[in-house]
Amino acid sequence: MQYRQFGNTGFKASALGLGCMRLPTVKLLPQKIDTEKSIELIRYSIDKGVNYLDTAWPYHFGGSERVLGEALKDGYREKVHLVTKLFMPLVRKTEDFDSFLDKQLTKLQTDYIDTYLFHALTKSYFDKVKNLKLIDKMVEAKDAGKIKYIGFSFHDTLPVFKEIVDYFNWDVVQIQYNYMDTGIQATTEGLKYAAAKNMAIVIMEPLKGGQLANPPKEAVKIMSQSPVKRSAVDWALQYLWNMPEVSVVISGMGNHKMIDENCKSAQNSGINSLSDNELTTIDNLIEAFNKNIKIPCTSCQYCMNCPAGVNIPENFAILNNTASKGGVFRWNIKRSYKKLANNISKLNDNKTNGNASLCISCNKCIPKCPQGINIPEELRKVHDVLGKGKKVESVFI
Ligand code: SF4
Ligand code: SF4
Repeated sequence: MQYRQFGNTGFKASALGLGCMRLPTVKLLPQKIDTEKSIELIRYSIDKGVNYLDTAWPYHFGGSERVLGEALKDGYREKVHLVTKLFMPLVRKTEDFDSFLDKQLTKLQTDYIDTYLFHALTKSYFDKVKNLKLIDKMVEAKDAGKIKYIGFSFHDTLPVFKEIVDYFNWDVVQIQYNYMDTGIQATTEGLKYAAAKNMAIVIMEPLKGGQLANPPKEAVKIMSQSPVKRSAVDWALQYLWNMPEVSVVISGMGNHKMIDENCKSAQNSGINSLSDNELTTIDNLIEAFNKNIKIPCTSCQYCMNCPAGVNIPENFAILNNTASKGGVFRWNIKRSYKKLANNISKLNDNKTNGNASLCISCNKCIPKCPQGINIPEELRKVHDVLGKGKKVESVFI
């Protein structure tokens, strides 16, 4: 494992961090964590040198923090930098800060959080931070020894990002960034802006919710023609570790193979280590992906559960996969849409399995999406393609 500067904190973070939003789950219950498997996997990653663990209140509907608390027993807590977040949608008054933090410390079975973040700040959540004087609460908690470093994770636009960065002397920021997302949310400009203020830069969604691990055929061809052979995931990760500003890249690794491969990638990484030819290959990959990603869903699940039973991220993933594959692959992917429920009598009590046609346009999901996707509108398009057989190109113009 390679270790990198974590802003100006003095801590050296593993280049690869473990995101605990996509832990192994029980079969047929995609949000219910398989506790035994998850504990084993978390400890396996730590034994491989990962020392940065990221979780949050809502991950796995609260289960992630609880399981992480179990996993960090037996001496593992002392080996890691533990990160969790204040979930802004649930905060109503200033005192909520203490009650959430105390509950999180209890669930995580620890006396302190290494880095505590305001979760998924947008303009309106940042207004809430200011109105409720929550930064004062952060500082108070730091003085009390309950947290070590203060930061925020972010999902809005560059001007908002700069406004937040300039507001306080933050230690850490966590942004969505990958070679497809250099121009949205914080953007490359924001990343460099925060790094220039000595903030530790933590990257989430390095694979754009797994989409960069699943390349369209043009991208596969580009990678095969490169003299340097890498997997699709390795190309995406090396792009990030090449940047001197990046401290940690968080990956939600759900099995041993992913951990092994990503640890190997981290071991082979280096600042400014990619050649001009390799960077050109990545430019070509961006072009190929741009032609194929129709809906920028990262499968974060924040929009779930849908009252009508629509599995929103699954519908979007099937559409994106359909758009990026040809021939028999496309036919196969389209079949997975047919396996979803197309009327309420077929909905599964345990697993949300509705297809796009079940959306009743209640619009409840729209404000929850950090990617700003107009979910009901995109679901209508998904059903036009996958339910009614219209051509992707005629619907997603
Ligand atoms: S708008 Fe559609 S997808 Fe969104 S919550 Fe309502 S029914 Fe579900
Ligand atoms: S639609 Fe938005 S909120 Fe829902 S999973 Fe995709 S990115 Fe996340």
